[in-house]
Amino acid sequence: MSNSLRYLSTRSRAPSASLSEAVAAGLAPDGGLYVPERLPTLAPADFDPRGSLADTAATLLAPFFAGDALAGELPAICAEALDFAVPLRPLPYGDAHVLELFHGPTAAFKDVGARFLAACLRRLPRADDRPLTILVATSGDTGAAVGAAFHRQPNVRVTILYPDGLVSPRQAHQLGCFGDNVQALRVAGRFDDCQRMVKAALNDTELQRAVPLSSANSISLGRLLPQMSYYAHAALGFWRKHGEPLNFLVPTGNLGNALACLWVRAMGLPLGEVRLACNANATLPEFFAGGDYAPREAVATLANAMDVGAPSNFERLRWTFGDDMALRRTLHAESMDDATIRRTITLHASEHGETFCPHTATAMHLLDRLRDQGDDRPWAVVATAHPAKFEQVVEPLIGRAVDVPPALAAMLQRSASAEPLSVTDEALKHWLLERA
Ligand SMILES: *Cc1c(COP(=O)(O)O)cnc(C)c1O
Repeated sequence: MSNSLRYLSTRSRAPSASLSEAVAAGLAPDGGLYVPERLPTLAPADFDPRGSLADTAATLLAPFFAGDALAGELPAICAEALDFAVPLRPLPYGDAHVLELFHGPTAAFKDVGARFLAACLRRLPRADDRPLTILVATSGDTGAAVGAAFHRQPNVRVTILYPDGLVSPRQAHQLGCFGDNVQALRVAGRFDDCQRMVKAALNDTELQRAVPLSSANSISLGRLLPQMSYYAHAALGFWRKHGEPLNFLVPTGNLGNALACLWVRAMGLPLGEVRLACNANATLPEFFAGGDYAPREAVATLANAMDVGAPSNFERLRWTFGDDMALRRTLHAESMDDATIRRTITLHASEHGETFCPHTATAMHLLDRLRDQGDDRPWAVVATAHPAKFEQVVEPLIGRAVDVPPALAAMLQRSASAEPLSVTDEALKHWLLERA
């Protein structure tokens, strides 16, 4: 179909793909990331003002799916994946809101992408009738979301790699609690190592012949696209009510969540400024301040899901906004240390009775700084996880227990286990071949 959007690799050395092909593949064959050949444009009037989040998603993503085998299924995919609330909750001070992305089954925003990807893959025919192994490297939250989304799904296995000792105890429990077709591997390394091992496995044609593999990292388009929905839904609701664009503060690691936000704005919808909040891993803040892009090893912080030294979606960001000067004009990023994260959590609990997870606290701190500078624009702080997932950090700071949401409580009741894995590409290959 002439109106169907093609997907290109950021490295330009792979053939273009349809949406279904790009979603099924995860990574492009040249090692690049799939991007749409152009971003479609939409206007507020294209959306049903009474529509649910799933309705907004179906309208927003229709041009990305046009002409694809999955196009007719898009409303059903959106309804299945986005069946929980993503409220834009006003904060009791200033013109500020929290966009709460953590009301899904594993209490972090990764549920949105994981459930959408699973809903897509379930509907795609496969030539191979051997089980598909979904590889996922996680800094804590992605693995659980992907595990939950594919748990007990026929003919699919999920292999989760996480950095041993660098996720919170409750995160580790979630990762290991599924059983059945979901296996967690605790890797003696960092998140970046896990990510590298997954990429190496996906690029290994010999391995792929023996074990059909796909990815579910934020490099997968099937995760990135649905994350655009909540930004569109929140911004459109705000726009209709106030006639003004909403600005966003996004806790950032691999840049998947923030890129989704920027793509919505680039499509022409009324979003204002977007600022990135980073922990002590300062690759992005240094670049946006005018330095070279210098990926590096990650350092461990309290906001562990953002412990990324080489943000994988940077390639997509560059592709979208062209040269680095243009990119620096588009975005602003700030880095902060653990002491600042702690102080922010304590401050908001004692002064406003609000409890935030360490990731969300990075964005709250940016809001505090903006207010100190006299900025009175309406901001939405993006809340990426429920504080109960990080109770070991949060509870001592606020001096009381954090209520555990029911879905998380149910997972914590189950037993959990993870196998150790050494930090080499060979170790993962060997593990996968042994179970093929
Ligand atoms: C994954 C994650 C982030 C970082 O999101 P990116 O898309 O990698 O930038 C932030 N906070 C939490 C709680 C996360 O799980």
